[in-house]
Amino acid sequence: MDIKDHIRAIPDFPKKGILFYDISTLLSHPDAWQVAMGRMAKIVGQHRPDILVGIESRGFLVAAPLALKLGCGFVMARKRGKLPGKTVEHEYDLEYGTDAIALQDDALAPGQRVVVLDDLLATGGTLNATIELCKKVGGNVVGAAGIIELTFLNGRSRIDVPFDSLISYD
Ligand code: IMP
Repeated sequence: MDIKDHIRAIPDFPKKGILFYDISTLLSHPDAWQVAMGRMAKIVGQHRPDILVGIESRGFLVAAPLALKLGCGFVMARKRGKLPGKTVEHEYDLEYGTDAIALQDDALAPGQRVVVLDDLLATGGTLNATIELCKKVGGNVVGAAGIIELTFLNGRSRIDVPFDSLISYD
């Protein structure tokens, strides 16, 4: 099965000139989604994770089913202001301005083997910030993965742990 057959490219979203890779059509196709999650489980399982961190919001859709499949925990990395209780944040630069990603301060136990997941790697800024944040709260980040990688943006060069993707566009 070619996962690419189930991913839709939408021009000019969220702004003019951006080609947006949409996984909605993969999520809504039960066989293709099963196959994609099976392949992701093989990649991610090699890291022997204790916990999977999913990045808001499409990263949740990847990390939560994989955590069930692999028998490990799932943690949400969310935009600033969305998580209750004590949180730890990490700021990162956007094209214009900054953003911040947050975890609950007790989300990861010291030394836990963590794999960070998102749907797509573009410039790598979001994933890199989340990895830094996981380290800040004591996690041992052993890997990262996504369904899609935009290789022409070379986001992988910003990621200092092993990174894998199922499909890439160049
Ligand atoms: P980066 O920080 O530049 O690597 O952007 C990656 C983040 O933006 C991820 O959280 C993605 O969900 C989102 N993103 C960027 N481009 C796309 C796209 O074409 N399709 C879906 N998500 C995207």
